[in-house]
Amino acid sequence: MKIITTPEAMRAWSEAQRRHPDIRIGFAPTMGALHEGHLCLVRAAVHENDVAVASIFVNPTQFAPNEDFDEYPRPFDDDLAKLEAEKVEVVYAPTAADMYSEGYATYVTVEGVSNGLCGASRPHFFRGVATVVSKLFNAVKPHRAYFGQKDAQQCAVIERMVRDLDMGIEIVTLPTVREPDGLAMSSRNKYLNAEDREKALCLSKALFHAETLLRNGERNPDVLISVVRDMMQDVTIDYVELVDSATMAPVDTVAGPVTLAAAIVLPTARLIDNVRFDPGAQQT
Ligand code: AMP
Repeated sequence: MKIITTPEAMRAWSEAQRRHPDIRIGFAPTMGALHEGHLCLVRAAVHENDVAVASIFVNPTQFAPNEDFDEYPRPFDDDLAKLEAEKVEVVYAPTAADMYSEGYATYVTVEGVSNGLCGASRPHFFRGVATVVSKLFNAVKPHRAYFGQKDAQQCAVIERMVRDLDMGIEIVTLPTVREPDGLAMSSRNKYLNAEDREKALCLSKALFHAETLLRNGERNPDVLISVVRDMMQDVTIDYVELVDSATMAPVDTVAGPVTLAAAIVLPTARLIDNVRFDPGAQQT
């Protein structure tokens, strides 16, 4: 397994791969502190492509000054061991100084889809994500890139960006990987103390309950949203919304694929989760 740390060296490696017309490069971008959710993306990148790259980069431009950039876990050696076990060819781990050199001034803004949900409470966030993912794509030059449904709005932002900027990269979204009790895996779960870990469970429980109602025919967003809110009375709710899965705009009925998304703020961490529902794909 090669560890590459500069955009130039990464690009040189990818360009050499791309000289072979049959080789497909799969890519799983991460911020490290790898868990099974990340490793599912990495595994798919390895198995569905000829060569696979995983990146580890805690991206400063997606954190606001009051957020957890400094505390964000960085178990780099453990992460490398996990990626080696998955047989990725390359780990791309640039430094912040290499990614954002003196005088850095260029940002990618994806309008509309970035505005609501997490974009409303973290207005800097998707500009940072779209910018860093563009830069990672420019260095890694993947044919396919893998993202997790856990960050549904991030997936929608990246898909919009790839289409709008003619990037020609296939975006693959994989299901949310959960702890046995339902909590969505997240590097930030490490921040939770015992009391908050217990309280955090209401998020997935409430979303699963609403998902059952959707499957049973409930189509009224107000009903679905209030069911979720009612089950999360012990925590601070950031948002609960029913949105179109592609545009992330609120819907007033369930006619196509929708995402029921929620964020809660606990004293030790802010957590997000969502469920997707497609009435067209429903089995009878
Ligand atoms: P992060 O390191 O949090 O930036 O996440 C890197 C990638 O892993 C993103 O595409 C996330 O959506 C994905 N991811 C994070 N947690 C999970 C999870 N529990 N299940 C599936 N994918 C996940």
